[in-house]
Amino acid sequence: MMRKLAAGNWKMNGTRESLDALQAIASAHPEPGVDILICPPATLLLQAAALSADSPLSIGAQDCHSAASGAHTGDISAPMIADAGAQAVIVGHSERRLDHHETDADVRAKAEAAHAAGLLAIICLGETLAERDAGSTLDVIGAQLEGSTPDSGDSANTVIAYEPVWAIGTGKVPDIAQIAEVHDFIRDRLTARFGSTASDIRLLYGGSVKPANAAEIFAVRNVDGALVGGASLNAADFSPIIAAL
Ligand code: 13P
Repeated sequence: MMRKLAAGNWKMNGTRESLDALQAIASAHPEPGVDILICPPATLLLQAAALSADSPLSIGAQDCHSAASGAHTGDISAPMIADAGAQAVIVGHSERRLDHHETDADVRAKAEAAHAAGLLAIICLGETLAERDAGSTLDVIGAQLEGSTPDSGDSANTVIAYEPVWAIGTGKVPDIAQIAEVHDFIRDRLTARFGSTASDIRLLYGGSVKPANAAEIFAVRNVDGALVGGASLNAADFSPIIAAL
């Protein structure tokens, strides 16, 4: 039976004192019925993983390089993330695709590196507002999914996150039918490629998920959890979202 996933992406937010939020989230959910993952900035990975070792929280990174080591100033590799005690890594977030010009091929290589290091890869996809307005959402999502997901993907090592770029940090959320359409489409495409095992690959929705809209979004078919930005930074907002799953 698939366990749903509540994942928090702290983005470029958080100093050591933010680790209090981790402990607050962990103590609010001693025996959660869902998986809980927090992805703090890289500077906090080691401490966050140590603090969460005896809790139901897992820790993930927000990006990794596709190589295991080498002359790549400023980057961190998947084996380093695993060595820090983390279990997962987000790859292909739209902020990385946009700010760092990451292509589907880059994202796929990062996901392969994550798998090789034993990490769960959370592969992010999403259309821009211009793409949605042009009616090309499913074409864009299909191409990103195909290009960014490695052949090594399975339900144990891969999660797909649908995050419409225009819904991230804007307070705008697609309507329920729009979320259902994209999630059904992703499920169908995964099934066509990976067969029946694809029914257990978790599909997260991300983009302005808040306590007030979480239950409605989680009721949508093929939504198996959320990738939450702003509302994952404190327990007061993230806990009700976890509870809504
Ligand atoms: P917000 O929840 O802040 O809209 O961010 C979503 C996101 O980008 C998570 O990866």
